[in-house]
Amino acid sequence: MDRFIATRSISEELTSDILKIAALAKKDRAEGNKVIDASIGVFLNEDKSLNSVDLVKESLQENILTDLSYPNIYGSKEFKEGVLKWLFKSRYEEVVNKYLIPFGATLGGTGACHIAFSNYVEAGDYILLPSIMWSNYRLIAQKAGAKSTTYELFNEQGQFNVDDLISKIEQLSLSQKKILVVINDPCQNPTGYSLSDDEYDYLLEKVNQISNKISITILFDIAYLCYDDTCFKPHRLFLKILDTDLNFLPLFAFSASKAFGMYGLRVGALFALCTTSEINNNFLTSFANMARGVYSCPNGPALISLSSLLNNPYLLEKANENIDTNSSILRSRGEMIIELLKKYNIHYLPYKNGFFISIQCQDSQKVYESLIKKHIYIVPLDKQHIRVALSGLSLEEIPIFVDALLLAINL
Ligand code: PLP
Repeated sequence: MDRFIATRSISEELTSDILKIAALAKKDRAEGNKVIDASIGVFLNEDKSLNSVDLVKESLQENILTDLSYPNIYGSKEFKEGVLKWLFKSRYEEVVNKYLIPFGATLGGTGACHIAFSNYVEAGDYILLPSIMWSNYRLIAQKAGAKSTTYELFNEQGQFNVDDLISKIEQLSLSQKKILVVINDPCQNPTGYSLSDDEYDYLLEKVNQISNKISITILFDIAYLCYDDTCFKPHRLFLKILDTDLNFLPLFAFSASKAFGMYGLRVGALFALCTTSEINNNFLTSFANMARGVYSCPNGPALISLSSLLNNPYLLEKANENIDTNSSILRSRGEMIIELLKKYNIHYLPYKNGFFISIQCQDSQKVYESLIKKHIYIVPLDKQHIRVALSGLSLEEIPIFVDALLLAINL
């Protein structure tokens, strides 16, 4: 440690592995090798260009210079309305009538997670994360001054483990008053799992039951929402939420990175569905404090560009078609890899769709190292799992990738 840097700023959480692996792949390619990069967390087209939504780019071109002043700390009214209408669609009126919805634009989904982790658990208390997760959650928790622990993601039937989640909530409630749980659904990172209707029913029923005695906040991280189903109807998560009278506080971390291809522009939002004005007001005050004390305000020009698209029904219809086409590309990659994994009897964790799939193996580091020798990049998770980014693999690469994986697993 040098004599200047503060000890607390050097993270104990090693979450930068993914970035290191991506850098290795880039260097390998720059040296002229034919690289297959399944480590990447962005969506690439079949020709390796960055996947995007055409109308978002057009709207950026048109609106990015419209207003370069400081935006409102929460983002604009138009942004809030645009995002909520995009998420709740035909049920928008109902949700705004049923709940108070405090809302703040954030620096991506990461910013939304950071604010939720900071504001909804006491300093030093534990946040409940899934046992198989986007590893960055741990670092975000640490930076928010919280500790983290996990619930088992899957039960023995390979379904979302509601029972373990409830039991971990009960255990934690013995030592802390407020419980914050993170559920990254649908198209979970890194498994590609999505809860079914029945699983949502069971989850909401059980969490609602114990929320009578314990203060529970659930952060639904919906970064990959649009890759689960069509963009033209509300996702079943929202249908279920709307059809239940909630005793717990649901927060949502929205991200424009994956859905609208706005990765670098840092657009996201955090919002809650509240039943009292006290909960609503405290959300807003704590959100403003965090923004003012950490980054000041969101990216105004990017918000204007996205909201002008979201509030134009004709353009929105076209953009939704574009997003649906994008998800069908991902779906075909998923179908292809599943067929090959089954054919070769390679085991994987329950997968529905999305950017990633997790493969089981004996020694993930060994698999990683042997694939690197063939210029193929994946991300080792724990000892017995690796993450494969379908978002970065073309249909042509998938069979080559699975052949190499089979050899690496059986070494
Ligand atoms: N949540 C999950 C599960 C993710 O995988 C990511 C990005 O990889 C994010 C949130 C945050 O994305 P962003 O900050 O770019 O919106």
